[in-house]
Amino acid sequence: MHQLVRLFLLPLSLSTWLALGLVNGVQAQESVRDQEIAQCLPGEMVTWGDNRDRPAVGSPMVFVYAHANAPPWFDEALVFSVIEKAASHWSACGVAANVVRHGTSQTLPPWAIHVRWSEVESGGNFGLANFGLRTLVLGPAAFQMLKTRNPAHDARETLQMLVSHEMGHLFGLMAHSRRCVDVTSNYDNGKGEKCIARDISQLRRYVEYRALLPTACDIARCRMANGQK
Ligand SMILES: [Zn+2]
Repeated sequence: MHQLVRLFLLPLSLSTWLALGLVNGVQAQESVRDQEIAQCLPGEMVTWGDNRDRPAVGSPMVFVYAHANAPPWFDEALVFSVIEKAASHWSACGVAANVVRHGTSQTLPPWAIHVRWSEVESGGNFGLANFGLRTLVLGPAAFQMLKTRNPAHDARETLQMLVSHEMGHLFGLMAHSRRCVDVTSNYDNGKGEKCIARDISQLRRYVEYRALLPTACDIARCRMANGQK
């Protein structure tokens, strides 16, 4: 059966085979990343030691989204749902989270976190979380650059990964993970050391190996930071 499939697909390039997951072993290898996302093995919760984790900004976490200055290809409902998705996944860490729109009549706690687009505040980055100021700032120019350089790339994925990453800092994960797949990871430490993975050869198969949402290790670390078991 496999032979037949292979013969039938012979005219396709290797990259097409890989994309379709039809080369022997590719599906199994792809699932290594899925397994890393779903499961945190003993010894895998390792950070770069670049900061010290602490409890979340507040509880419950409240994110207030202002859409002004967003790139025109991201509509408000989309960005809002991206923030909601990240918040709902992070709340598995034992800290409840809500997302509301800027200008809401709802009474906000003093620790509410403001999520907004600003070139100045993001400092040219895709995003920046500020624990003291209680802000999560997104950078419009970085997303413009991404669109210009790689128009085929789905920028919504970058947005989801980025919001999840920055939100992790606000949930108290101040250190960056050394585990490549974690959404709180840094791929290297700027000193030549690389992140770790169960099968490091997998990294080159993905534009972005990092998960879009917090992984099992991200959540486990978040629970420790917030005094949960
Ligand atoms: Zn970070």
